[in-house]
Amino acid sequence: MSDDPVLYERRGPVAHVTMNRPRYRNAQNSAMTYALDTAFYRAAEDPEVKVVVLAGAGEHFSAGHDIGTPERDAHLPFERRAGLWWDHSERHGAESRFARESEVYLGMCRRWRELPKPVIASVQGACVAGGLMLAWICDLIVASEDAFFADPVVRMGIPGVEYFAHPWVLPPRIAKELLYTGDRMPAGRAYDLGMVNRVVPRHELGTATEALALRIAGMPQFGLALTKRAVNQAEDLQGLHTGLDSVFGLHHLAHAHNAETAADPLGGMDVTGMKEAAKRAVR
Ligand code: ZN
Repeated sequence: MSDDPVLYERRGPVAHVTMNRPRYRNAQNSAMTYALDTAFYRAAEDPEVKVVVLAGAGEHFSAGHDIGTPERDAHLPFERRAGLWWDHSERHGAESRFARESEVYLGMCRRWRELPKPVIASVQGACVAGGLMLAWICDLIVASEDAFFADPVVRMGIPGVEYFAHPWVLPPRIAKELLYTGDRMPAGRAYDLGMVNRVVPRHELGTATEALALRIAGMPQFGLALTKRAVNQAEDLQGLHTGLDSVFGLHHLAHAHNAETAADPLGGMDVTGMKEAAKRAVR
């Protein structure tokens, strides 16, 4: 087993990018974020690659941002690739958080969404909070029957993850329900709502995703790039780009409020706290 946080393999015209922290349900630390960025850059650059597949090793696609593993590295400095915000590690308070999340979350997700080749998410098990951001920046989502989608960060007093695409990828009332309850949305419901493209048995997830990728790979590369841009532009004209910016401000208001009034910017919540709060919630 490789220790690399992200694996990269090209098979024919398809680049397979795989998050590789299965022990921690592919929780995203900065090491993984930058490894993902390197992989996407490589896929964009390679003329042989027509389509990219983003998957997660192990039982789950991604449990979200790393808020508690031994390799959590949120305090460390980073390279700036998504933007020019300064290094957060020497700054304090809201400034530090805003600089960091502008780069590693919002900035990176926007950058990846612009990768000029189709990207397909292959989702099994948990796709939670920060996991949603990664699935949502993909053009298509293939999910296994056991996959579920959730954004429980309202339990931290925060209005959703940093990449607030919820009311664009879901009808607004459903987006509110997802956020207000923190409940898991099963793959079948996500399919009915148009949030995912295919739902397949778990053992067929890899082959079904690859078959779709190969089918798309038959199209002309520039045509695919222009088509992706056309639909992304339409989403931005529907307010996605400015919506992300305005909610990013609310997100940071919540972090700052937590830091002022609670134990920390996450409202005193860690992985255990989130699990216990979910158990206490009335179903
Ligand atoms: Zn945040």
